Amino acid sequence: MNIENYVAGRWIAGTGAGQPLVDPTTGAELARASTGGIDFAAALAHAREVGGPALRRLTYGGRAQMLRRIADCLAERRADYVGIARANSGNTDTDAAIDVDGAIGTVGFFARAGQKLGDARLIADGGLIRMGKDEAFQALHVMAPVRGAAIHINAFNFPAWGLWEKAAVSLLAGVPVVAKPATVTCWLAQRMVRDVIEAGILPDGALSILCGGAGDLLDHVAEGDVIAFTGSADTAARIRGHRRVVERSVRVNVEADSLNACILGPDIRPDAPEFDLFVREVAREMTVKAGQKCTAIRRVLVPASVADAAAEAIAARLARTPVGDPRNPEVRMGPLVGRDQLAAARDGLAALAAETGTVFDGAGSALVDADPDCGAFLFPTLLRANDPAAARAVHEVEVFGPVSTLMAYRDADDAFALARRGRGSLVASVFTADPGFMADAAIELADMHGRILLIDASVGKASTGHGIVMPMCLHGGPGRAGGGEELGGLRGLAFYHQRSALQGPAARLEAIAAGAARIDA
Ligand code: NAP
Repeated sequence: MNIENYVAGRWIAGTGAGQPLVDPTTGAELARASTGGIDFAAALAHAREVGGPALRRLTYGGRAQMLRRIADCLAERRADYVGIARANSGNTDTDAAIDVDGAIGTVGFFARAGQKLGDARLIADGGLIRMGKDEAFQALHVMAPVRGAAIHINAFNFPAWGLWEKAAVSLLAGVPVVAKPATVTCWLAQRMVRDVIEAGILPDGALSILCGGAGDLLDHVAEGDVIAFTGSADTAARIRGHRRVVERSVRVNVEADSLNACILGPDIRPDAPEFDLFVREVAREMTVKAGQKCTAIRRVLVPASVADAAAEAIAARLARTPVGDPRNPEVRMGPLVGRDQLAAARDGLAALAAETGTVFDGAGSALVDADPDCGAFLFPTLLRANDPAAARAVHEVEVFGPVSTLMAYRDADDAFALARRGRGSLVASVFTADPGFMADAAIELADMHGRILLIDASVGKASTGHGIVMPMCLHGGPGRAGGGEELGGLRGLAFYHQRSALQGPAARLEAIAAGAARIDA
């Protein structure tokens, strides 16, 4: 099977042998993808010149209706997507649900949120501002959709959600999308785009997809284009520093890797309900999607007095996680997405070895219905840092797999200092029954974390979890997490708009404000 690209309003097969997409459980080749011969300049021009104007002719409300139809179209074909996620990403049903249902739910969320923006084509940011003595002359900030293309470059771990969490916001804003999923898992993203295109929901040029390498795509960016990137910090640096991106001041949003921490409060003893919630969360975060989540818990911070009990309890849970072919309903964790990723994870483990001991690594366990020589399997691995404060690699090396490191801390200050050693993360979680510690954690961690999950027994059941990105909440983090911001409800629209200060007759500005939408409502 050749996975075609959809650019400039038509399906085009790339030239050359292409890159193989494999089933990571068996190693069997499933398909090939190539962007060879694709005219990237023409692809971007079509999005800007055909897709953009057609989208902007609609109002926010009109585009929200379009999103509703997309969500319905995807929901009808959910079973196909789960099958592809299982085959090409090694997903269990739970893993596939997070990716596929996460995608559909996020599009649905923006359909509902966008409906509230009504018939407007412009967003008012704040009210009128007086600038001098004469009240007749005032100012108003507005946000207008950018008139370029939105280039969405995604990582391999969420082919469905990664595509739609970006596309939903961009399309609602009125900005056409040129999506570039990671090649190794692009089949699912391409199938979803194909279904939406065939359903005739979107105007020509509103959504394109490139299935293969990025080629010279970035050589053709222009003013008004925006780039939203998810992936490794190395690639992010290359994109940010690209000569044309810099020359044309193209806005870049980066979601990169991070070493997210989970903190067990100093007040929690092993018999507290928060201890169980914490243990369950750590084990779940390590094994869901075989730990290939940018938000997964990588560093587990526990009071020194309960470190042994925590290690034992997490290890006991991991030992109850059957690993193997995700087609077997007994299996709770599948493979990594490929042998390259397995090799990278093993390199990461080797980098952590000098600073850690192994608490649990699945040694002696057998794979269920799978051959370790063909598949890309790594058993869940819990490490323990020998000296967390002196260690370096455990705070710097992200092993993108089912691997976390337990770290014992002395007191609250030590815990916060260790969390900050991640130099900026997408998320931290805190399990405590002490309201004072919870409040301190919010203050101590907020500047270095895009999201903080605060859990006591009262929200144990209601919690959406450490690793799950909710569309109404911000996704992104400072520092090594990339410094980006996505989602956050309608806040996410800001990236796809240009803010402009209007200065003029107050009465005219009031009329403009009255016809504009507001995202602070
Ligand atoms: P990656 O190697 O950086 O690739 C990410 C994307 O960039 C892929 O689509 C890749 O295309 C593309 N790409 C590579 N070189 C490029 C270039 N020179 N110009 C334009 N695009 C280029 O990352 P990955 O291995 O797919 O993803 C794993 C990493 O992503 C992990 O470190 C993880 O922590 C991070 N991640 C972060 C988030 C988040 O939300 N913060 C989410 C998921 C993953 P090809 O596939 O064709 O090479």
